[in-house]
Amino acid sequence: MKKKILVANRGEIALRIIRAIQELGHTAVAVYETPDNDALHIRVADEAVWLGDGPRADYLSIEKVIKAARKVGADAIHPGYGFLAENPDFAKACEESGIIFIGPSSEVIGNLGDKVMARKIMAEANIPMVPGTQNLKAGDEGVDEAVAFGAKYGYPIMLKATAGGGGRGIRRVEDEAQLREEVHVARAEAMAAFNSDNVYIEKVVLTPKHVEVQILADAKGNTLHLGSRDCSIQRRNQKLVEIAPSLLKDQALVDEICDTAVKAAKAANYFNAGTVEFLIDKDMNYYFMEINTRVQVEHTVSEMVTGIDIVRTQIKLALGKDLAFTQEDVQIRGYAIEVRVNAEDPQNNFMPEGGKKVLVYRSPGGYGVRLDGFVYQGYTIPEVYDSLLVKLTVFGFSWNETVDRLRRCLDNYVITGPKTTIPYYLNVVNDPDFQAGDFDTSFIETHPQLAEYEEQGSEVNKLARLLAEIHHEQENKYAI
Ligand code: ADP
Ligand code: ADP
Ligand code: MG
Repeated sequence: MKKKILVANRGEIALRIIRAIQELGHTAVAVYETPDNDALHIRVADEAVWLGDGPRADYLSIEKVIKAARKVGADAIHPGYGFLAENPDFAKACEESGIIFIGPSSEVIGNLGDKVMARKIMAEANIPMVPGTQNLKAGDEGVDEAVAFGAKYGYPIMLKATAGGGGRGIRRVEDEAQLREEVHVARAEAMAAFNSDNVYIEKVVLTPKHVEVQILADAKGNTLHLGSRDCSIQRRNQKLVEIAPSLLKDQALVDEICDTAVKAAKAANYFNAGTVEFLIDKDMNYYFMEINTRVQVEHTVSEMVTGIDIVRTQIKLALGKDLAFTQEDVQIRGYAIEVRVNAEDPQNNFMPEGGKKVLVYRSPGGYGVRLDGFVYQGYTIPEVYDSLLVKLTVFGFSWNETVDRLRRCLDNYVITGPKTTIPYYLNVVNDPDFQAGDFDTSFIETHPQLAEYEEQGSEVNKLARLLAEIHHEQENKYAI
């Protein structure tokens, strides 16, 4: 039966979800705030509801989103990622309003969004993890607990916000003196960012690879994985480049990590799509880090190598269907790489470049190329949201072919107006360590030369490129 599904998000992920809803024959409803008046997701959706002037506050308002869903008579809400996606109160408000929340239950989101609780559930299921503490006690007692942990396990250690996410609320502490100072600071920061001042400690995994596993689970408890992803290439603990499958050479180890992820999901009574994240040390020991209870930015790479539409599957599972395939049906064919094309200046510590107009936009295409974006020529990027413009995902039969395809796409890609991460990624694809799969989460810090390229912003350069684009000029043009 035709359903009406509201998408409580914006940008590329709103479009991604709207497309899946429409392909399933359902009605897609967009929501938006005033800074997004020109956004593509409003135009592509079948219906749209204005939430308010924002910025952000209305996208984040449980009350307003539920009111919008009631107004249009929505049967279900897809939260995307970010915003309300991992807010158990939002899932609960949907449950109480008789609206299907496309994701796990509010209870599961609440348990797994609490990193200390998640670690407790995983410890009971014998999932390997680094040593860590409970929530530190209030005041100086908590500082003493932290210092005792440091004395027992050694430094560096990681001070983490229990309710943290999006790479925020994580501090690496090098010694006891720093720890004594930072516990209070971390608490205050956690309170401001996540409305909870709980912090805890984890031992640091040195030079780790970030490897994660995509999970799908139906209401009957059938749980399977779509293989691994490597998301080690990060800045400020946030991912920039993601690869499927992971480039670990030991296939038995990869299989074991994937099976452990399924076990972890089952231990948490997981339902719908989710991701189990692990860190891997240089001796190939792996440790549970967290479960993200939503669709991930980088879900595209798993889709490309398995052929499974994760968002479509999410919707079908939430509407009561069982998984239509088994673990044996899931085959990993080839490789996929996603790069996050952000309006950021890699030469200036990846500072956001929002508020600028896209003057020329010419995207790559062809075999094995996928673009999930929302910008168009003449579009002014709102300053108030995050800097992701487009996810460029390429697929190839072999790793080398995939890298070659990515290089070609980045070379073909023209975005003028804001500075973007494109020229940085061109250096990444040409980097021997990247090509050899030899990288960990310190890759960006240890490869400062990746930010060395001709300045994107120089006026002459910009103007020349603009004119060439406007007149469709080709520099290397000959006549016979
Ligand atoms: P992780 O898998 O570690 O959670 P992601 O980078 O996929 O890493 O996303 C982390 C969180 O960061 C998301 O839940 C979301 O809150 C936020 N985030 C990242 N990229 C975006 C984006 N483009 N738009 C909105 N939120 C984002
Ligand atoms: P978030 O919820 O913000 O995604 P995570 O717990 O997933 O937080 O950690 C994000 C990133 O921070 C990881 O991908 C990794 O690079 C780094 N990190 C987190 N915990 C550790 C740790 N114990 N040791 C080393 N690096 C860590
Ligand atoms: Mg994470």
